[in-house]
Amino acid sequence: MANKSQPFEYAPAPESRSIVDIKPSYGLFINGEFVDGTGKSFKTISPSTEEVLAEISEASDADVDLAVKAARRAYTRVWSKMSGAERGKYLFRIARIIQERAREFAVLESIDNGKPIKETRDVDVPTVAAHFFYYAGWADKLGYAGYGDDPQPLGVAGQVIPWNFPLLMLAWKIAPALACGNTVVLKPAETTPLTALLFAEVCQQADLPPGVVNIVTGAGGTGRAIVSHPDVNKVAFTGSTEVGKAIARAVAGTDKRVTLELGGKAANIVFDDAPVDQAVEGIVNGIFFNQGHVCCAGSRLLVQESIADEVLAKLKRRMKTLRVGDPLDKNTDIGAINSAEQLAKIRELSEIGEAEGAERWSPKCDLPSTGFWFPPTIFTGVSQAHRIAREEIFGPVLSVLTFRTPKEAIEKANNTPFGLSAGVWTEKGSLILWAASQLRAGVVWSNTFNRFDPASPFGGYKESGYGREGGRHGLEPYLKNDGAR
Ligand code: NAD
Ligand code: MN
Repeated sequence: MANKSQPFEYAPAPESRSIVDIKPSYGLFINGEFVDGTGKSFKTISPSTEEVLAEISEASDADVDLAVKAARRAYTRVWSKMSGAERGKYLFRIARIIQERAREFAVLESIDNGKPIKETRDVDVPTVAAHFFYYAGWADKLGYAGYGDDPQPLGVAGQVIPWNFPLLMLAWKIAPALACGNTVVLKPAETTPLTALLFAEVCQQADLPPGVVNIVTGAGGTGRAIVSHPDVNKVAFTGSTEVGKAIARAVAGTDKRVTLELGGKAANIVFDDAPVDQAVEGIVNGIFFNQGHVCCAGSRLLVQESIADEVLAKLKRRMKTLRVGDPLDKNTDIGAINSAEQLAKIRELSEIGEAEGAERWSPKCDLPSTGFWFPPTIFTGVSQAHRIAREEIFGPVLSVLTFRTPKEAIEKANNTPFGLSAGVWTEKGSLILWAASQLRAGVVWSNTFNRFDPASPFGGYKESGYGREGGRHGLEPYLKNDGAR
């Protein structure tokens, strides 16, 4: 939508959606084929228009059992027997097909999720392909990864993912699992199943042996059936801390291996010697990228008091140029909020922020009248006790706090139950290294934010979960633990 405070207007630059072929209804992908589920069905919608996109099967316990059986058969008979070099060929093939069909994936992801095409095209889909290429390269080199000479797979992996990066989270889960010789049953989130179902077609196109990848759609009940299935050896979950805790309880006392990637409340720390213009870009990227639906979002800005006025003035000026609207428009910076539920949660926490005394500010923007929208928002005058400083909002809402000394910055940054990521902005290398050593966060970015690379491990401390995805470390959760490191 047009932003009236802009000095000039952009002409609309919509990406065509004709490249995607959305079917009226989808079955489950089990044993290499799309089959009808025995459960009910639900609808996935476009959050920017509320248009119904397709009817999706909700996998029942019996359907999940079929998928796990298919995965077990494929594991025992084919995939665990195949050489790493052969498995790698399939992964390279999948990576190349994703590149070939990149535009289709990008458009479909934008439609189903609401995120801007600029991000799906330039971040999500290229990073997905890179992830498959990266783990394809490990498949025949597992003996050199530091986990023993001949590390063995675990068996069947049950994987449950969220809606904020649907295809990217699928890649983070499936690529290392397959490279290590495991087979998978994966459930995408209920609001964003379409790119996972398109990925199932890619598995067919790549001639992946039936049962190596199974995609079952559904909501929390389907997820519960996967993680509690007795023949699943490994559970991998990304999503809320609340569900993560429920999963940890569900697998306690079994011999299942578990990795959990949960929420975050990252501090983005700007010291007084930081390059301010660059830091402002990093603050914007940290909290407004992907509508703030990012577990590692820089949702708490900690700015040194002496430069706070300057940083805030520049931040507000920059926020006035952000374009909120049609996800398929190539000029859009901020797309739709993924669901009515998530929008309600963002609104509720923002109202609490005001009620607790913080000052709310958004640039003027005309939001579309249908769909789910929230303007980029900052809260100043936030104290550590405020709920908007402690809880994950998971939307385009930034809480601004100030500090006087580096020690105070670290204390405030670490004063959270989470520990997924952090950012440090300063000219001094020594301050970066000191801060990184003090911050209790799995990833610390310096003079940048929200950078993702398949070679680099990602994961949390404390209530942000446990286990690492990405890099050599991302192989470990999918290999038998023989004590070697
Ligand atoms: P969620 O945890 O409810 O859902 C994530 C996935 O888990 C979905 O596929 C869902 O169907 C499934 N699921 C739900 N209940 C389950 C159960 N009992 N057993 C197994 N699987 C189950 O997350 P949400 O409702 O989509 O989002 C709620 C909050 O979670 C967000 O506001 C945000 O704070 C957080 N979140 C974090 C991330 C992240 O990347 N860390 C991603 C999405 C959401
Ligand atoms: Mn959807």
